[in-house]
Amino acid sequence: LLQDQEACAAEFERTFIAIKPDGVQRGLISEIVARFERKGFKLVAIKVVIPSKDFAQKHYHDLSERPFFNGLCDFLSSGPVVAMVWEGEGVIKYGRKLIGATDPQKSEPGTIRGDLAVVVGRNIIHGSDGPETAKDEIKLWFKPEELVNYTHNAEKWIYGDN
Ligand code: UDP
Ligand code: MG
Repeated sequence: LLQDQEACAAEFERTFIAIKPDGVQRGLISEIVARFERKGFKLVAIKVVIPSKDFAQKHYHDLSERPFFNGLCDFLSSGPVVAMVWEGEGVIKYGRKLIGATDPQKSEPGTIRGDLAVVVGRNIIHGSDGPETAKDEIKLWFKPEELVNYTHNAEKWIYGDN
């Protein structure tokens, strides 16, 4: 069983996705989860948390020199966030595609930010921007035992079985 779990975990990549306080307060949790789920990605962890400001600063440490850093960290810690880990082939890069450009004014229609947000400071969702940040962010937000290894019923229909 352990071998199966390791094989499963090694096969597909994982990314960290968070619905920010604006997305939660606007009632967009199910809308956002649905877009990842319908695509064929697999939810392997989810929880609702109010991050401390210190935690928000850790999450956004790469941006600590930017003028919007303080406001951004205040905002992320201002209310509940839905923290998730999604798994699937190409999920890091394609997750960013589903999310759309950082500035919703530049996000394409059909993307989450393009369809559901208007300004950069309230762009409702976070997604890891590469394999290294995905690994670091999953580790920051989740304990290993909070990540669930399982075979989804639809996997063979999403990926094929030969
Ligand atoms: N942000 C902002 N003003 C800016 C650029 C970014 O408020 O001029 C915020 C925005 O919420 C963004 C977050 O900072 O989602 C992180 O910025 P990043 O460049 O990492 O964008 P993302 O990876 O979220 O698309
Ligand atoms: Mg980023």
